[in-house]
Amino acid sequence: MKIIAVGMNYATHNKEMHHSLELSEPTIFMKSDSSLLKDGKPFFIPDFSSEIHYETEIVIKINRLGKNIAERFAHRYYDEVTVGIDFTARDLQNRLRKEGLPWELSKAFDHSAVTGSFVPLTEIGKISEIPFHLMINGNKVQEGNTSQMIFSVDKIIAYVSRFFTLKIGDLIYTGTPAGVGPVRIGDHLQGFIGERKLLDFHVR
Ligand code: MG
Repeated sequence: MKIIAVGMNYATHNKEMHHSLELSEPTIFMKSDSSLLKDGKPFFIPDFSSEIHYETEIVIKINRLGKNIAERFAHRYYDEVTVGIDFTARDLQNRLRKEGLPWELSKAFDHSAVTGSFVPLTEIGKISEIPFHLMINGNKVQEGNTSQMIFSVDKIIAYVSRFFTLKIGDLIYTGTPAGVGPVRIGDHLQGFIGERKLLDFHVR
């Protein structure tokens, strides 16, 4: 199973990160199978970073094998979604970026890909109109809607499947809106699609 993630897919987040690029193609990176953290297990802050940021994202689970998938057929390749966290070692990412190096160390480390409980898309509604938000210690810190994505889920699937065969169980993190920030030991994170809580865990 692999985890594919999209960077810089919400204009509001790109603005806060001071990226002013005009994107003609999605920015893609991968996480590893050991990145996965689920079932409400705690996230432990790793020792190599002093600035771990949460990025709240809609996560899609692939349900069919596919390669070179046309955008108009992409909706056939997923039927479950959840909300997840793309944990990012921002200090490390900034250093790697500055040096022109790949992001993986800052993005694909153990337990950096948190997922909530997957729910059928039929219970959620249209993939292009999903509202989601993150609460930390009871305060709403991040809020978005898939309607604000630069590259839609179906465009992302069409694009990445040119390079990677998609397999059953693969996950796609679809990018984060504005409002990213640091987590600290003791924080309680709760992620929602609409009013439905799908994600609930602590930082240790
Ligand atoms: Mg992200």
